[in-house]
This record gives sequence, C-alpha cells and structure tokens, in this order.
Amino acid sequence: MMTTGGTIASRPTEHGLAPGMQGEELLAGLEDLKKSCEIKVLEVCSIDSTNMTWKHWLRLAGLLQENYGRYDGFVICHGTDTMAYTAAALSYLAQNLGKPVVLTGSQQPAGRRITDAGRNLRDAITVAMEDASRGVQIVFNGQIIAGTRAKKVKSFSFDAFKSINFPLLGLVQNGRVIRYLCEAPAENGPVFYTDLNPRVFLLKLTPGMDPCILEPVFRMFDCVIVESFGVGGIPDSIAEEFFRILSCYQPGEKILIMTTQVTYEGSNVDIYEVGRRVKEKYRFLEAYDMTLEAVFAKIMWILGTGHSEFDEIERLFYKRVQFDNYAPMGGKVSE
Ligand code: ASP
Repeated sequence: MMTTGGTIASRPTEHGLAPGMQGEELLAGLEDLKKSCEIKVLEVCSIDSTNMTWKHWLRLAGLLQENYGRYDGFVICHGTDTMAYTAAALSYLAQNLGKPVVLTGSQQPAGRRITDAGRNLRDAITVAMEDASRGVQIVFNGQIIAGTRAKKVKSFSFDAFKSINFPLLGLVQNGRVIRYLCEAPAENGPVFYTDLNPRVFLLKLTPGMDPCILEPVFRMFDCVIVESFGVGGIPDSIAEEFFRILSCYQPGEKILIMTTQVTYEGSNVDIYEVGRRVKEKYRFLEAYDMTLEAVFAKIMWILGTGHSEFDEIERLFYKRVQFDNYAPMGGKVSE
C-alpha cells in the first residue's frame, strides 16, 4: 500500500484540512483483513492531490516497477481531486500488468465519525487480492472503474466517480467483488515507461473567445488539447488566427487534439462544418470517447517516448492500452 496524502489521510488544521495521517493509522480499523493478506506500507508523499504533478506520476510508476516482483497487488491511497489523472497516467506508464494497481481515497477524512474512508480502503484491498484483478483501477463507493475511464463528477458526495463511456469493471458489495470485466491475462511481462513530456496545454473554448492566447500557447507547448463544445468545432471568433498559426507548423511539430467539454458520448468533428473545416486544414488527433484525463496523460506518455513522426503518434494515440483484450465475467462473485 502506497500512501500519497489526500482527504483520506487529512486532519483538521488551523488553515483547513491537510494530510497528516500515516498509512498504518489508515489501516487501524481493518485488522480483520490482515488475516487474508500481509500489507506493507510505503509512505510516498503526504500532499493534497491538488499538488500532484507528472513527477509524482513517474515516481509512483518507478515504485511499482521496483516492487512489482515483491507483491501480489498494489493499493495507492490518493486525494480524489486528481485521482483520475494519476490513474490514467499510471495506466500508460505501467502497461501489460498481470497484477492489480488499485487507487482509492475518500470524500471525508478517515478520522471523522461519518466517513467513506474505511469502506473505500477495505474495498480497494479486497480488489487488490482478487484473482481476476489486473491493471490500474479505481475503487470508490463500491464501484470498480478502469484507470483510463474514471472522472470525478461530485465534489462532496460519496459517489464521487463515474466510469465514462465504458462499463464498470465490477462492484464491491459487503466485501464481495462482483466482477463484470477483467483484462485478459498478460502474455508478456509488464512494460514500464520512465518519461513523460509535460509540454501539453489544455485550451478550453468559451463562446466568442478572443484569439490572443493562441499564438503563445502554440509557441510554448508541444501539444494543444482544444476542449471544444459539443461534438467539436472551432468558432468563427478564433478561426482565422487558429488556422493561420497552424499553417506555420507541420503536424508532428505541434500536436493538436480536439476533444469536448461534454462528459458523456465523446466527440466527432466530422459532423458539423465548424468541425470539418479543421480536418481540411491540419492533421490532428481526436479524443472520441476518451476522458480528458486520459487524453492528457496519454499524449504526455506518447511524446515522452520520444516519437515525433505523426503517423506513429497517431497509431499509439488510437491504440487501446487498457482492455484491448478483455474477458467478460458476467458478474462472477469472489469472496
Ligand atoms: N483536496 C483533496 C485531495 O484531492 C480532496 C480529496 O482527497 O478528496 O487531496
């Protein structure tokens, strides 16, 4: 079990909630689980997940690689605010895993009278012990979500996460795992990556936006993710400047990714004229049904591998890293 901080480990301070509890304290109420497994705790950091960076993702992936042979499963306690980003990043940095990596946290600190901390941690450890469990997953409020598919959708409620455009992998009910989907067993061993390219910018469009931001953004970053409206398009208010800037670059030189502000059902820039005109001007990538968190982490990973040929970047971007090969489990129950 690796701890990183977050609400689950937070205590009240003069300046607001801040992480301060150790991993062993989090496990205090879960003595009975120690009959089924031996848990070793590694305190990685103690931060609000607002302060997570790509460097922490690399550190976590490095620790997974270092400890992979020593343990049967991994649980990462993490703040909820950026948990979906970390889960996505680890899904790309640690691929082809034959063992589970389960992220969890809570909406209320473990020390509070009413809290989801104990349940979530217990469920996460249970999923980390399950035979069919492989790869990076989030376990929260009884749901098992693929690492590349999670999104935080509620600020306060216990059902904080949803699986986006992909079925739940399973449920945890009263300590039992009900599994719907599992990754097919990895044929070759795990593959760990050690680099990310952080020069990725997210540009959220607003109606009538001024184009003045475009030039510095494209100059300073290797990839610009445009979070557009609906299925996707570039509004007239920025179109002229947008296409002028793109004409200065080759596709592999600056990566453009079109995605959407809409949570469910994804993008398709082919539908409307405002979208299709981008296709006519520049070769770009499209998020389709991927979450923003996954798009952001995936392109950082692809560019971190050193690829600069657009064809290869495109191939990797559209290749499923999780659940390319999976087995339906039809609600198999494991005690
Ligand atoms: N701000 C906290 C964090 O992300 C929220 C949480 O853990 O629920 O670390």
